[in-house]
Amino acid sequence: MSTPVMLVTGGSRGIGAATARMAAEAGYRIVVNYAANSAAADMVVGDIVADGGQAFAIGADVSDEDAVLAMFDEIDARYGRLDALVNNAGVVDDAERLEDMSMDRLRRMFEINVFGTMLCAREAVKRMSSAHGGRGGTIVNVSSASVTLGSPSQYIDYASSKGAVETFTMALAKEVVGEKIRVNAVRPGIIDTEIHASGGDPDRVARLGASLPMGRAGTAREVAGAIIWLASDISSYTTGAVVDVSGGRAV
Ligand code: NAP
Repeated sequence: MSTPVMLVTGGSRGIGAATARMAAEAGYRIVVNYAANSAAADMVVGDIVADGGQAFAIGADVSDEDAVLAMFDEIDARYGRLDALVNNAGVVDDAERLEDMSMDRLRRMFEINVFGTMLCAREAVKRMSSAHGGRGGTIVNVSSASVTLGSPSQYIDYASSKGAVETFTMALAKEVVGEKIRVNAVRPGIIDTEIHASGGDPDRVARLGASLPMGRAGTAREVAGAIIWLASDISSYTTGAVVDVSGGRAV
């Protein structure tokens, strides 16, 4: 039997990169998707290959249907199977109240965080589902503790998009439960990655870390551990679940 394959969207940096590295350690061949930062994606692939694993990087904006279709075609051609999809690619935006949010901002937030997740899941289901002749598989979506907190006056559009991701997780899990596919989500709290800088708040982890229940922010690798568990057979009776990885923040 050939080696299982995992696609990690947004695998070039942060939680996605940590997931790609940990999954390679666990024996998967890895597809490292990225949007623009090919150098970061190449570094993740280089590290995996240097450790004896197999991986390749592929640029594709997950909100661009043609790019997503081309990415899955490339996976078919190069690896010939797909066992796990980690829908990790996601964006935030600058802190704003709803009154100031433009339609362009709202559209981008939902196109990447929600439609990107749904598009990649759609293509994965076509390949994994036993109803389509597939051998089954797992999908792990990356939500956010903002679903329970709301992120008022910061990015309620982001929180709402992740709420859609969680409903989609539950809904798709039920839709494909009889087709050898499990669908779950992780809900990270404040994790030390570059996403906070991209939301105009590079000091967020340093400023808020000590005030969190565990007295610190989480690491990308701590989220990756939950993702790998949900993707693997060890979680074989778990589907439609959301695993909180917020160091106690959301409860
Ligand atoms: P990050 O460090 O900013 O990395 C984002 C990753 O997503 C990069 O690999 C980026 O690719 C990729 N990406 C962005 N837009 C994309 C698109 N349209 N198509 C394909 N890839 C795209 O973010 P992170 O903190 O690791 O966050 C990862 C996930 O965790 C996101 O869904 C985020 O919402 C969620 N999350 C994060 C936190 C946190 O505190 N960090 C908390 C809760 C949830 P490039 O390298 O090419 O830009």
